[in-house]
Amino acid sequence: MKTILNFIGGSFTPSLGGRWLDDIEPATGLAYARLPDSNAMDVDQAVASASAAFDGWSRTLASERSKLLARAAALIDERAEELARAESIDSGKPLALARVMDIPRASANFRFFASLAEQWGSQSYSQALGGAPAEAALHYTLRSPLGVVGLISPWNLPIYLLSWKIAPAIAAGNTCVCKPSEETPMTAFLLSEILRDAGIPPGVVNIVHGTGASAGAALVAHPKVKAISFTGGTSTGATISRVAAPMFKKLSLELGGKNPTLVFEDADLDVAVPQAVRAAFTNQGQVCLCGSRVYVSRGIEGEFTRRFVELVDRMVVGDPLEAGTDQGALVSRAHLEKVRACVKTALEEGGRVLNASAQNPLELPPRCAGGFFHRPVVLGGLGAASRTQQEEIFGPVVTITPFENEREALELANGVRYGLAASVWTRDLSRGHRMAEHLQAGLVWINCWLVRDLRVPFGGVKDSGVGREGGEDAMRFFTEPRSVCVKYAL
Ligand code: NAD
Repeated sequence: MKTILNFIGGSFTPSLGGRWLDDIEPATGLAYARLPDSNAMDVDQAVASASAAFDGWSRTLASERSKLLARAAALIDERAEELARAESIDSGKPLALARVMDIPRASANFRFFASLAEQWGSQSYSQALGGAPAEAALHYTLRSPLGVVGLISPWNLPIYLLSWKIAPAIAAGNTCVCKPSEETPMTAFLLSEILRDAGIPPGVVNIVHGTGASAGAALVAHPKVKAISFTGGTSTGATISRVAAPMFKKLSLELGGKNPTLVFEDADLDVAVPQAVRAAFTNQGQVCLCGSRVYVSRGIEGEFTRRFVELVDRMVVGDPLEAGTDQGALVSRAHLEKVRACVKTALEEGGRVLNASAQNPLELPPRCAGGFFHRPVVLGGLGAASRTQQEEIFGPVVTITPFENEREALELANGVRYGLAASVWTRDLSRGHRMAEHLQAGLVWINCWLVRDLRVPFGGVKDSGVGREGGEDAMRFFTEPRSVCVKYAL
């Protein structure tokens, strides 16, 4: 049994309350590590250590901060295979996916913000005031770090999303207290070692493990925490807002999604079909950007669905550590049960399962007998108002629905409370731009999915969130602009 520890003030410690939680391996259903079940006292200690580190870190030259972030990126690269295995074991995702997606992205996050720390500037405006003798004013903006910030991350992309918050927060001169998901704490623990080894001073990054209700809530409510950057479910985002907003904390909320994939009759199906399958099922459908509602132009519905289902039927559900596994395990027993309940609801609502493979018994090695596996499910025949089409499932379940024309495609795509991402498949780029203009989504991909550039603003509209991460938007979030005006004679 491995032991995960909190990382506070540069030291590794258990929870002051002495309580532990089990860390379950989703592929086996068995506990393989324990993590601190931290409480408000642990959070208080972490905030005190982050407060003590703030003065020194905020005065550290940007070039020095940049060097330390770049060193962290290099250490992630050095330990990439160990991190990928840890991520796969902890979350149930295929090792092959963690190798190409999660871990390279974690080091890219540090490298990207290492570079931005040095390039980051602020605005100035010169203003002619007239008069005789003539006068002018120079307005410039100071961008100061906020102080101690709270970073709360989910289980689906553990190190990828946590590093996406830590890197800009500390690049901008803040110190932080992180609360990774209690479902997948292992790579955050390994990241603590990496940050220590990179030479990031004690207290600049503190990582407190535990549940949302205990450690997470204490972090949000802590009076010395100036901002909360949160990624997770929409209802958790609402709970956090209720506490943080009256305390006038800055809030960045990256929340749930129910993203449409729109396939027009002129799409190149050789590309659109495999990419729509990938968009639906990457990480067992547990990516906030997954396209879980596929809408297809009526004229190609039959052909598209046949080709889509054919690819899904070939997907291998298996041990995440085995080469050749396309779909690993879902993150927890509770999540598996939720997904099963959603499929049951879909059938009660009149949905039809379109892929024969959904009924096949799972073929798993003995070590995975107690794991949280679910076959991919493709559903048809569901109305726009059905719960299946309206609510986030966040698992390997996708619906296919025909549309008649662009107007109906837009109505269907926009007809949910969420607005995180969308993808549009068409050879007519005018149509692509037109759809991008009218789709209610923070990100629109045209003829691609999950092509990411870290400079681009990232975030959702409607119930998918408030605020933007990425590039300069992240640096803006983690700094407070203050204006200075100097009057002078010309
Ligand atoms: P979750 O909201 O249950 O938990 C996210 C984090 O918040 C965890 O660390 C949890 O412990 C903590 N938390 C829970 N209650 C809290 C509270 N009251 N106060 C403070 N912290 C609390 O989400 P999850 O199940 O871990 O992740 C899945 C969800 O995340 C999905 O809805 C998915 O769409 C969303 N997500 C969104 C994005 C995005 O960028 N928009 C990215 C990934 C995941």
